[in-house]
Amino acid sequence: MIFTIDNLVDDTINYTSLNLDKNYFAQINSDDLIRVELDFNCLNLGEKLYGKTKNESINIQKNNSKKILSYYKIIKKFVKKLKRRGISKISFFVKNLSDKKNNNDIMLIGLLEVDFNAKLFSKMKVAYEYSCDFLDAENSLNKMCDFHDNHCTKHRDKNIDKTTGCCPSFCKIRVSGQACSHKNLACKIFMCDYLINEKGFYFTPNTLAILQKHMSPLERAICFGTLCRTEKKSLRFLWLIRGITFLYFIVILCAIFMLIF
Ligand code: SF4
Ligand code: SF4
Repeated sequence: MIFTIDNLVDDTINYTSLNLDKNYFAQINSDDLIRVELDFNCLNLGEKLYGKTKNESINIQKNNSKKILSYYKIIKKFVKKLKRRGISKISFFVKNLSDKKNNNDIMLIGLLEVDFNAKLFSKMKVAYEYSCDFLDAENSLNKMCDFHDNHCTKHRDKNIDKTTGCCPSFCKIRVSGQACSHKNLACKIFMCDYLINEKGFYFTPNTLAILQKHMSPLERAICFGTLCRTEKKSLRFLWLIRGITFLYFIVILCAIFMLIF
């Protein structure tokens, strides 16, 4: 299944809009190629994801996540119905605002990719990577933690002549003098006090729809706290936690069975 963000949907192609009507499904054939146009603008999620304060930002993002997740559920229902009709050739084009103010479309594509295209054991990795891509895109759109001549936003705005940002003060894995290439979710979520309190830039794993859907609250909390690790190490740790949680539930279930019988 193909999911694409496309501002310039080709007018010569017949697109289907999201439609759960019985009659629509009755008239399609199993070898049809279905092209669906998702009108992202109808969700009214076109504004920035930040308010003036940390709490305002959290509220905006929670509200956004809720709407994205309910839209995603409708798409999921639509795909299930198509699959029941034996249709597998489906492409989705997300038509987004031309004046892009946030990256909610990446979030939606990520949710759908994890659900429909990722294999069972790579779902967590794909969700993790899409969250990183979303945060990178937000960072570059809003120029949050942004470097010019090696001076980060805070140090430029505060006239501090420090060329390293804040990472090297606590991170050992960065190759000095080079931009960090690690896909670490905790690092991408991290904002210094200046960015949070004076700019309102704030995210938590609990306001990212893709993590709400594909990670447990404990795993999300861990995503928040595992700074300075490579992606591989962070994911390994998350898998360990998932394994322990699973074992814990099995033990509890066995104990309940033993008490009952
Ligand atoms: S998060 Fe760190 S590197 Fe980014 S602006 Fe703040 S102090 Fe600078
Ligand atoms: S891994 Fe994280 S803390 Fe370390 S340099 Fe990269 S962004 Fe900074």
